[in-house]
Amino acid sequence: MTTLRAINITKRFKGMTALDRVSFEIRDGEFVCILGPSGCGKSTLLRSLAGLEAIDEGSIEIGGRDVTCAPPSERNFGIVFQSYALFPNLNVEENIAYGLWNKGLSKDEAAERVAGIIETTGLGCHSKKYPQQLSGGQQQRVAICRALVLNPEFLLLDEPLSALDAKVRLKLRKEIRQIQQRFAITTIMVTHDQEEALSMADRIIVMNEGRIEQMDTPQALYDAPVNGFVADFVGTANFVGADRAIRPESLCLSKSLSDNTIQAEVCDVEYRGAFYRIEVDTHVGHLMVDIPSQQSDAKVLRLGSRLYIDIPQDKVIM
Ligand code: ADP
Repeated sequence: MTTLRAINITKRFKGMTALDRVSFEIRDGEFVCILGPSGCGKSTLLRSLAGLEAIDEGSIEIGGRDVTCAPPSERNFGIVFQSYALFPNLNVEENIAYGLWNKGLSKDEAAERVAGIIETTGLGCHSKKYPQQLSGGQQQRVAICRALVLNPEFLLLDEPLSALDAKVRLKLRKEIRQIQQRFAITTIMVTHDQEEALSMADRIIVMNEGRIEQMDTPQALYDAPVNGFVADFVGTANFVGADRAIRPESLCLSKSLSDNTIQAEVCDVEYRGAFYRIEVDTHVGHLMVDIPSQQSDAKVLRLGSRLYIDIPQDKVIM
């Protein structure tokens, strides 16, 4: 079992604190996403784990071994960045084999390992193609193979999907998850896209301004966020009083006024396919309410309509 532990990692750039006492533990075989807004320290954290940035305080352990000062080569991470950075003059096989040649493997040994990985990841029909003959998604798959062929203990992915268009991104999400499970490799992926994190990760680290706000399973983050930042960043939240929030899908229409019901006036309506997102003004502020399309009617969808909104107390979070 190889666990990765970060203990109070702090990293500063010229007096600016990019990571502020970051601690967590990642278990063998887990897929963990580091999620947070731009500039919150995600890439710095990934680079620190890989040994590409020296940290100022704290320590990093792999399987109980202190690697805080170890060079990247002694940490056994495979890293894939947003830009695939494939060698344009080498074909797919050669791009994947390159790291093995560098390690001194013979051409035959390397070819065998490369063939195995190309087979497992479904790149077989592209093996003789050059990077410029591949789509962005295919290039990113080659980049992942190039990292995996070296048998790393950890796979680090830094925004691997953000340069791709929406459809390819969805497809590659699934493929990366399948590859990760097939190789049973502990994977840490940086993303600013909450949907990506929710759909791919076993656990998510939510970061804000260099600190970890919460680390938990996607469902726990969604159902029981520890504060307003997490509630709003992972999903959508309405704030209904100090530190109390409710999801738009948890609010519902009511026929009459009662204890948990408030009066509301429709000020915006957006069709989202399976549901309408209705924005209403109330005495507790502006709220978003998701109404399943089948339950909507003309009155609900008319700007200026007056409605009763029920706030189920058991759905209020925090
Ligand atoms: P994210 O990946 O979440 O977008 P980064 O880890 O890239 O955030 O950056 C975190 C903070 O550290 C930002 O304010 C960024 O400007 C700063 N930073 C990152 N790298 C450097 C660097 N090499 N020199 C100075 N500041 C940096």
